[in-house]
Amino acid sequence: MAQPIRVSGKVRLRDFNPRFCAGLEKEPTIMETDRLLERFGKLQDLFYANANRGLIIVLQGMDTSGKDGTARRLFEFVEPAGVATVEFKAPSALELAHDYLWRVHQAVPRFGRIGLFNRSHYEDVLVVRVMNLTPSEVWQRRYDQINDFERMLTDSGYTLLKFFLHISHEEQAERLQTRLDDPSKNWKFEPGDLAMRERWDDFMAAYEAVLNKTSTPWAPWHVVPADRKWFRDYAVAQTVVTTLEDMKLKWPKPKVDLRKFRVK
Ligand code: AMP
Ligand code: MG
Repeated sequence: MAQPIRVSGKVRLRDFNPRFCAGLEKEPTIMETDRLLERFGKLQDLFYANANRGLIIVLQGMDTSGKDGTARRLFEFVEPAGVATVEFKAPSALELAHDYLWRVHQAVPRFGRIGLFNRSHYEDVLVVRVMNLTPSEVWQRRYDQINDFERMLTDSGYTLLKFFLHISHEEQAERLQTRLDDPSKNWKFEPGDLAMRERWDDFMAAYEAVLNKTSTPWAPWHVVPADRKWFRDYAVAQTVVTTLEDMKLKWPKPKVDLRKFRVK
């Protein structure tokens, strides 16, 4: 499969097509995603049992890009005790009274668990950059800081999977309109979403900088074509399952000689 693209080297976002679906058809792909996600459930059991490393899945993307939907789908077949979703909203007063990575480090899962970050420390070089929330000298230094932080995590036994859910400007318009029209989605609409949408090009430039500066060998980015939800879910599921398969996890060996025990 040509995408999602694991980013290495310099990329331009306009070279990625948000509607890409590798020529796949919807219904069979949904069934294949189910199969992958069931496999994810089994691998997650092994991951939990071993409890010697951690996995962090980062989801970034514009409003309506499908961060919530991807999280919901991805964890359909997993044991809730082994996973945790953390949403990063605008920082609280307490969070603002610390360095920007403080809240992120606190959210890092313990070994054996899988953490899904719905937004992340990348907001500190995305919305913060576009909306001028800190001086540029401050956010410009964060790319290196983030790379170092992620290096420390991977050196400590974490695997990071970073996904940029890439939707088109047109698709966002449709999805925002649905939030205005559909009573079950009204609650998701925030007036600020429109102000962000007006800064679309600046956000794309900020995302491009993120991909070019923070896709490292130890924590690469994946650009996921996200206009089609079924392809987005398939692409993420496939990457997650491949990553876990590559760990070649085995059931942990007993800590004591089990032959000594009799259940009466
Ligand atoms: P949502 O994910 O749509 O519920 O919205 C969360 C909002 O919090 C988004 O507008 C984010 O841009 C914003 N946000 C998340 N992290 C930060 C941050 N570090 N600084 C400022 N705003 C943030
Ligand atoms: Mg929102």
